[in-house]
Amino acid sequence: MRKAYFTTHPNQTKKLGKIVAKKILKIKRKRKAQVLGLEGDLGGGKTTFLQGFAKGLGIKEKILSPTFILMRKFQIPSTQSQTNSKFKISKFQTFYHIDCYRILKPKEILDLGFKEIIQNPKNIVAIEWADRVRQILPRDTIVLKFHFANKNKRKIMIRLKDGEV
Ligand code: ADP
Ligand code: MG
Repeated sequence: MRKAYFTTHPNQTKKLGKIVAKKILKIKRKRKAQVLGLEGDLGGGKTTFLQGFAKGLGIKEKILSPTFILMRKFQIPSTQSQTNSKFKISKFQTFYHIDCYRILKPKEILDLGFKEIIQNPKNIVAIEWADRVRQILPRDTIVLKFHFANKNKRKIMIRLKDGEV
């Protein structure tokens, strides 16, 4: 399934991120991490989207545009992960924010322990500039494409496997 969203304010992009986060927290069976690959224009709203996404996961720290840091790690508070109906604790515990803008080859990400990170079903992993490391991404990566339309307008395409979120 492919869906396109248009936003006309950074807050709308954050809100979309928050909604996607809430859906991902509800994923039950998964043997590996849930990976999100964010692609598209510089200034397209990838980091802005992830600010809302992290908020949706219940993370209080601010998501920044990493400058020289390739990867940041956040704890997902367990209270956020409870589904209202059955009080099942979501299996997700850790959120990784990776930014490949400055990397030259996928090995730089592999050297950070990427393989182990994406094996662990407790992890949610969001990768900006994911097209630069496409060959090391899992098949079921949720792909999000960000297009800069004009000063405040963005087109965001989300590709999901049916029934996934
Ligand atoms: P990227 O991580 O894709 O390079 P950022 O999220 O860092 O992009 O930057 C997006 C910039 O565009 C921010 O300065 C943000 O305030 C601005 N902006 C304006 N309109 C929007 C919108 N509709 N959605 C997201 N960001 C927007
Ligand atoms: Mg960014």
